Order: sequence, then C-alpha cells, then structure tokens
Amino acid sequence: MNQIALLPEVQAFIDTVQPLRIGGARVDSDALLDVTNPSTGKVFSKVVLAQESDVDVAVAAAHEAFEDGRWTGLTPHDRGRILWRLADLIEERAAIFGQLDALDNGKRYAAARDADAIWPARHFRYFAGWPDKIERATIPVSTPDRLNYTRIEPVGVCGLITPWNYPLLMAAWKLAPCLAAGNTVVLKPSEETPLSVLYLADLALEAGLPPGVLNVIPGLGQDAGAALAAHHGVAKVGFTGSTRTGQSIVTASAGNLKKLSLELGGKAANILFPDADLERAIPGAFWANFGNNGQSCTAGARLYVHESIYQKVLEALAGLADGLNIGPGLDDPQHDLGPVISERQMNMILGHVDGARKDGADVVAGGTRPDRDGWFVRPTVLTATDAMTVAQQEVFGPILAVLPFSDDADVLDRANATDFGLAAGLWSQDITRVRRFADRLNAGTVWVNCWGETDAASPFGGMKLSGYGREMGKDAIALYSQTKSVWIA
Ligand code: NAD
Repeated sequence: MNQIALLPEVQAFIDTVQPLRIGGARVDSDALLDVTNPSTGKVFSKVVLAQESDVDVAVAAAHEAFEDGRWTGLTPHDRGRILWRLADLIEERAAIFGQLDALDNGKRYAAARDADAIWPARHFRYFAGWPDKIERATIPVSTPDRLNYTRIEPVGVCGLITPWNYPLLMAAWKLAPCLAAGNTVVLKPSEETPLSVLYLADLALEAGLPPGVLNVIPGLGQDAGAALAAHHGVAKVGFTGSTRTGQSIVTASAGNLKKLSLELGGKAANILFPDADLERAIPGAFWANFGNNGQSCTAGARLYVHESIYQKVLEALAGLADGLNIGPGLDDPQHDLGPVISERQMNMILGHVDGARKDGADVVAGGTRPDRDGWFVRPTVLTATDAMTVAQQEVFGPILAVLPFSDDADVLDRANATDFGLAAGLWSQDITRVRRFADRLNAGTVWVNCWGETDAASPFGGMKLSGYGREMGKDAIALYSQTKSVWIA
C-alpha cells in the first residue's frame, strides 16, 4: 500500500481533540467521540461530543448573533463578500478538505478534493450573489391610500443536520443559502464524519463570518440531533438523512411548529431503452449506482433494462464491477472505490445480498467482502424482481439490482411503484419517449442520458418519502426566508 502523505495541517488537525465551535470559541469537554477511518476500521482522531446542554449553549449563541444584527445588520453586499471569500478559502484548502473526508468517510482522495471540496466552493460562490437579489415587492392593493409591500426576512436560528455520505457538500448545500438569507446556524454534522465541517467553521471565521453566526456541534443523532430538532429556540430545521430520521424530526418539530426542509432517502429507477447509445449508457448506468460507492441518496439502484438487450447489459455491468479496484481512500495509485462508512453499514449491505439470494436473485458480480481490514464490500450486481426487498428498500451501498422490462407503459408504472421519489432517469435517443417519461416519472430530479448532475442554480429535492423542499437555486433562498406584508396608511 502506498499511502499519500498527510498534509501537515491535516496531521495537526487530527492529532488535536477537536472542540465544539460555539460563539466563535472552541469549547472543550470530557465527552469525546472516536473518529474511525473506514479504510482501516481504526480510530484516528477524537472530537468533543456535544450533549443536550451544548445544544442549548449553541442555540443561545446563534440567537444572540441573530438578534444583535452582527450578520443581518451587514449590508447585503458585505454578506455576499464574506460568502465569496469563504468559497475562495474552501477552494484554496481543497486538498485539506479532501484528506479529511478521505480519512473520515473513506472516499477516494481525488474525488474528495476535486469534487466534494470544489462543489461546496461553487455553491458558496453562487449564493454569495444572492443577498442583494432577495427583492421585495410593492403590491397593487385595492384599498385607496395604502402602501402595501413585502419584506423577505430570515427565519432566525436554523438547525442544520447533515449525513456522512458527502460531509462537506451536504453542509454547504444548506449553509450557503441559509447564511445568504441572513440566518444564523447551529450545524450538527453526522457523528460518522465530523471533521471537515469543524474545519469549515474555522475557515468561516477566517473569511470574516462574525462569531456565533455559524456554530458546529458534532453529536449523536438521538441526543444532540433530537435536542436540536425539538429546541424552541430553533426556527427552522434543514435536514438531510434517512426517511425514518426525517419522520422523527417532523414529530420533534411540532412543539414550536418549526419550518422544515427534508432531503431524505431514495431508490432511484434508471431505465435503459434499446435505442440508447449503449457505449455511453452502460458505463453511465453503472456509475449512476456505484458513484460514491452507492452511498448516494440519488443512486440509480434499480436498473430497468429492456429485455432485448438485458443479457448483454447484465454481462457488461458484471464485467465493469469485477474490473474495479477497491482500496483505502488515501491510497496511491487511486482506487476506483473506497470502503463503506462503517462496520454496521457493511453488515447491513451484506445482509441485503443474502436476503436477495434467498428471494431468488442471481448475484452476477461481487456479493462478498474482500479479505482485508476495513469496511469493504465488493461492487455487487444482481438480478431482481420488483417484489424483492433489495429492489424496494434503500440499501445505500454498492449493490445494483437489474430488472428486465418489456414495454414503456409497464416500466413507467414499475419505476413509479416505490415509496420514494428523489431521482429517476432514462437512457434513450427517442425525444418523444424522453419527454413522456420526464413528465411522468415521480421524482424531484430526472436525468436523461446522464446521471447525478446538480448545480447550485438548479433546484434539488424529493417527492413522497424522499422529503420536501427544494435546495439550491432560488428555491433554497425561499426555504430559509419568510415573507412579511406591511400596510402603511
Ligand atoms: P441518518 O438519518 O441516520 O442521519 C442523518 C443525520 O441525522 C445525522 O447527523 C444524525 O446524527 C442525525 N440524526 C439521527 N437521528 C436523529 C434524530 N432522532 N433527531 C435528529 N437528528 C438525528 O442518515 P445517515 O445514515 O447519516 O445518511 C444516510 C441517509 O441520508 C440515506 O437514507 C440517504 O438517502 C439520505 N441522504 C439523502 C440525501 C438527499 O439529498 N435526499 C443526501 C444524502 C443522504
């Protein structure tokens, strides 16, 4: 194994017990969380583990920062400049972020540096342009001698709760519009991957974000996460994670009727028609699922292939899976795929493979873990029917279920026959078919002859059990704003 040398900044960061970031200060405590490298299964760092009482302190700090106007009181221009500066700093330190996420999540260093760190920079830059574009309206009311206008106001303290699959990016998706709209934040990253977001908090201060505007408190979901979701000082929760946790957040938020936006699970259908350009479509459909090791909410995990090309495509997919190199995130030369996030997740994924076999699935590639340390699962391709659990439940790992179909009406119904509605896609050169499917697939995003593309300017979110609210683009500003109507006599 030829491991990439750690940058001195990364070495120093992981060698220090990372405190909470509250009110611009570093807050220590004896309650610690082990940070494990999924590539080795070993603890490599420690962070302070936020308790419920820390949530109170962080919310109070965010509340003070909101109320005293240290952020909302800045001109829109100055708020934009700070967000832009943060984007620059993220880009400058992309290698540091890349190493932190490669260690913490196990993902390939090159992807963590060149995608997971660069997309957030672009995201902050896009939203840096928003503070001076949140326009109000003067309404032509029919009452004589009255001036009626709207104010678009921030909602206040926002609790942002994020998952481990793209630790920095999922935080940026929420933070950038939330801050652009003038709110203050308590951010709870996943307990699996706290490091890159703690580092981001330091960069935000360096960029000039006033202390207390962004508070970061790694903690367990059932403790700090639940306390944040229920806290009466929090006006809004922006959440990305599993559907089950999303449902518990809906319940927890009822006490003060928090605003919510929920980006939840998925089980995306990807449909491969015989008129597709198979040279592109087969690797495209493969990586639609295996990108980020299948640990994406948008993973194209149900691949419907027309029966006329089914056998050929299945064999090609199995060949691609068998040809991948898997290995530690920080190894050089780079591997195609890293480990999955945890031992628990690895066992869950392998359990799905066993369950699928019992249900009658044919495992044509992978299905086992390699004989090495760390939480690795071989990329797995299996045949399935719609009724199988593996074709219905979100696995969130490197398993691709391949299902044959015969005609358009049949596959449209089957693609939509899921509780989820986050993403869907198709591969076809027939524009009439493409338009019909794009109209009728029940999903927040439909990709045609491509997969996984997002842009800070384009709305993203789910239907059905995949959640509600649209992150990115102007919709995201609305998620973190509220409208007031003012009447003046
Ligand atoms: P998870 O729901 O277990 O955890 C997500 C976050 O919620 C973590 O920070 C966790 O600590 C916290 N949490 C857990 N229990 C909580 C509770 N009771 N109250 C408040 N917070 C709590 O999800 P995960 O395993 O971290 O992430 C994987 C899931 O996230 C998958 O289902 C995936 O589809 C989904 N996801 C969705 C999107 C999207 O944009 N739709 C993106 C990435 C991941």
